[in-house]
Amino acid sequence: MTIQEKINSLKEELNTHNYNYYVLDNATISDFDFDKKLKELEKLEKENPDFFDANSPTQRVGGIVTKNFETVTHKNRMYSLDNSYSKDDLLDWEKRIQKMLGTSEIEYTCELKYDGASINLTYENGKFVKAVTRGDGFQGDDVTNNVKTIRSIPLNLNTDFLSDFEMRGEIILPLEGFQKMNQERFENGEEEYRNPRNTASGSLKLQDSAEVAKRPLDCLLYQVVASEKKHNSHFESLQNARKAGFKVPQTMQLAKSIEEVFEFVNLWDVKRHELPYETDGVVIKVNNLQQQEELGYTSKSPRWAIAYKFKAEQVATILNEITYQVGRTGAITPVANLEPVQLAGTTVKRASLHNADQIEKLDIRVGDTVFVEKGGEIIPKIITVDFSKRPQNSIPTIYATNCPECNTPLIRTEGDAKHYCPNEFGCAPQITGRIQHFISRKAMNIEGLGAETVDLLRKEGLIENYADLYDLKVEQIIPLERMAEKSAQNMIEGIVKSKEIPFEKVLFALGIRFVGETVAKKLAKHFKSIDNLMTASFDELINVDEIGDRIAQSIIDFSADLGNIHLMNRLKQYGLQLEVSEKQQGNQSNKLEGQIFVVSGVFYQMSRDELKNAIENNGGKVSSSISKKTNFIIAGDNMGPSKLEKAQELGIEIISEEQFIDLIS
Ligand code: AMP
Ligand code: ZN
Repeated sequence: MTIQEKINSLKEELNTHNYNYYVLDNATISDFDFDKKLKELEKLEKENPDFFDANSPTQRVGGIVTKNFETVTHKNRMYSLDNSYSKDDLLDWEKRIQKMLGTSEIEYTCELKYDGASINLTYENGKFVKAVTRGDGFQGDDVTNNVKTIRSIPLNLNTDFLSDFEMRGEIILPLEGFQKMNQERFENGEEEYRNPRNTASGSLKLQDSAEVAKRPLDCLLYQVVASEKKHNSHFESLQNARKAGFKVPQTMQLAKSIEEVFEFVNLWDVKRHELPYETDGVVIKVNNLQQQEELGYTSKSPRWAIAYKFKAEQVATILNEITYQVGRTGAITPVANLEPVQLAGTTVKRASLHNADQIEKLDIRVGDTVFVEKGGEIIPKIITVDFSKRPQNSIPTIYATNCPECNTPLIRTEGDAKHYCPNEFGCAPQITGRIQHFISRKAMNIEGLGAETVDLLRKEGLIENYADLYDLKVEQIIPLERMAEKSAQNMIEGIVKSKEIPFEKVLFALGIRFVGETVAKKLAKHFKSIDNLMTASFDELINVDEIGDRIAQSIIDFSADLGNIHLMNRLKQYGLQLEVSEKQQGNQSNKLEGQIFVVSGVFYQMSRDELKNAIENNGGKVSSSISKKTNFIIAGDNMGPSKLEKAQELGIEIISEEQFIDLIS
């Protein structure tokens, strides 16, 4: 086998596994073996840059940073849909189109209305080339690099489908993935996302495609746009698209009459709650493509399609009590405790009230009858209060003034929606939560120690804070409930091993409010040590890229606290990494500060990722598209001619790989 054959066969194999897993939902290889093959392909591609392929499965991990998304005009306009809310509306629509077509013989395709962000995918020669958001329907944003990371979107087609065409669909965030993301945000002390739709569309606009790659996005397709007239019906075109590798949901169905459309609507109005993603209605389309053409478009939407919107399910119930939860960072969340009631297939007992403003806005009181809805949000929300049913003796809600756990007066800083309990070191859920966060996988990753054990150690009075972990002895642990000698030893070993965890993770582990994983990385890179960070002024802090007032103030507060200063000194004594190690620092500088680079073409001495890392490690920035702001283009072999032209037009300096290496060495 030649190298090219080897590369091709690996690509094909990985594409097939991707397709089986992400489109058919049927795994045909273990994660481990998949990664092994992917690494193998990565290595071969790196060693043989001639075979660079923008659509290789290795290109799905992202890593391209886009500061400004380019505006692109749609080749074919992306229309809206007319809405209908009742069966009568649908009958009216049927009458209108029957009259226009001069026949009552109309077949329909019924699809669910997927609730996410619309996307237009362009394919040329059966290969994915571009992804653009709907925007205003005429123009959208080029989000190609981000969309490429969505594994269910085929980059090369399986079968002979069409050569040049557009595929339209909806980028969605399935419920399970959404919940997982929120769980993580909760654990990081970050505000949770409100609903999957906004989170999906927000994800498309993230600057770093590697971040997008980590999000469990999916893409459901619903329309083929092609000048080639290969298909006679919409249904047929989508079925063939599915064969070619696109994820066209199996829920799509043909209806021979409007009565069959009603059946579909009735079925999914109930069954939609079992779907792994959200839907807010059904889209009904005239199936015959010739009839579609005859019907054409209004100024806003196709005449051949209509959306039917489900009513959001609401029920009335009684608010029994408002309680307050204390998170790891001290953030307070008010919770409505409701008289249990059935809604959309589940029993609802609680609803989040978000914050004090929300309570005030609703003017909600204990004893009130309230309407609860399951809409875009996973956690049911309270829509309104039925004031006509308010008990005579009802008392206006006064927001908690003291922490429910430690009774400390709550505080709320300006611009913050939430109240906080400031008693960081004396409030039980904060103390335990902070230690649990400290040991968690993304932080210190301490093996042999779990959240429950932290609880136990706290109750037994063995630890008060995360520094105390490093004083623990095997003999202290063995007598504890369900602790054998072996597990005690494992735990201590895990704790000792965590002293090697790099500074950026330690910084994240400290649990400073608003300092999540990404912020911790930025801060570590900029300040290089905990001492530098803790002595930085507010101005120095906000001068760091992406560090705003809120984060800066939180770091200032953290650093001013004597308890924290004492803790940091102890951690230092135990030997934790509280500064960037020399090894990490070795290849870093600020030589490229303020310079924006575009990398294009195929390289020999370094991989694209290595180039990009080298730019960032030396203080420069990487952008995916050329603009007036670009300072340098690093050009490899086969640099795109349009890029070259644009660079020359704007007078941007073009340098070779060797020149770049000189620049940083
Ligand atoms: P609207 O935004 O209310 O005008 O609805 C139109 C949008 O519905 C389109 O831009 C699509 O993004 C979205 N949509 C979701 N599912 C479908 C579907 N099955 N067929 C057509 N459009 C859909
Ligand atoms: Zn408290």
